[in-house]
Amino acid sequence: MELNGPMEDVIIVGTGCAGLTAAIYAARANLSPLVLEGREPGGQLTTTTLVENFPGFPDGIDGPQLIMNMHQQAEKFGARFRYAEVEDFEPGKSYHRLKVDGEWLETRSVIIASGASAKWLGLANEKELKGHGLTSCATCDGAFYRNVPVCVVGGGDTACEEAVFLTKFASQVYLVHRRDSFRASAILAERALKHPKITPIWDTVVAEYIPDERGEMRAVRLENLVTKEERILEVKCVFIAIGHTPNTVAFQKALPTDKAGYLVKKHGSLTEIPGVFAAGDVVDPHYRQAVTAAGQGCMAAMDAERYLTGCCGEGTHSD
Ligand code: NAP
Repeated sequence: MELNGPMEDVIIVGTGCAGLTAAIYAARANLSPLVLEGREPGGQLTTTTLVENFPGFPDGIDGPQLIMNMHQQAEKFGARFRYAEVEDFEPGKSYHRLKVDGEWLETRSVIIASGASAKWLGLANEKELKGHGLTSCATCDGAFYRNVPVCVVGGGDTACEEAVFLTKFASQVYLVHRRDSFRASAILAERALKHPKITPIWDTVVAEYIPDERGEMRAVRLENLVTKEERILEVKCVFIAIGHTPNTVAFQKALPTDKAGYLVKKHGSLTEIPGVFAAGDVVDPHYRQAVTAAGQGCMAAMDAERYLTGCCGEGTHSD
């Protein structure tokens, strides 16, 4: 095992809302955190449009802009950033090791804020069709599908939000949901249902992607779960919005997770291992909001600082 570089005080894994807020707080505590930007720098907010529920922005703020602001804020106070994916994690008694790009980094504390990644349906042709009419990011790919019909799969906030966003480009947006009511919050569900370009298709799943001869999405085969009827829906792009899986693969050997793969906390932001903290979507299957992730990032940085200074036992309030 090769060790390069100095012992860090705190390494923050992830640059979504949780990781960047942790970076701001840790940097302001003079810990000069090293922040690792993984495969999806900026996290889920970089794939969203207008964020209307982050306090302090009465007119909303674009997700990527909000992330950029947080990044700048963290850098201003001395956070250091590095593009690197965590490949392995070895906790220790007084310090921990993280393997990135084949190199082991050592640190007294770790804040895991690696977020969550989009789930897929797991149908045939999925891999080949990604980027050819199959995507999980309306913000990234919506503009490619002007004046053609598209469909969104899912019934949560993301699906409703993406469907409304896609009406700017597509001729028609079908919202395919496996039940007969949305999981989405009332305001987003209503916005989708009231939109003249959006057609909900209830109780229905996508059973097959149908590509054209060039390997681009041409249509989907839909199956109604109640009537068992099948139909072909001609769409040029399928936007999958069925939730996310927490990014915990590198940590699962060392840290307990729940059935869905979320890290489990002991108390506060502390995991089972002293000096290892977790924040945001990687540990939170319930709230999963930008503002709750930011709050948890703040908590994790404060807990890490307390741990490093020997205050408050393992680094959290005795709650
Ligand atoms: P979500 O709330 O978990 O919703 C996932 C949706 O996909 C559900 O409707 C679910 O159906 C459906 N689904 C799951 N697996 C499926 C499958 N295999 N096949 C077909 N459908 C499937 O995920 P989300 O919409 O991404 O939201 C995640 C979190 O982010 C939530 O807490 C949400 O409030 C938040 N969010 C907030 C905003 C906002 O406030 N502006 C925007 C986006 C997201 P069932 O309903 O039947 O389970």
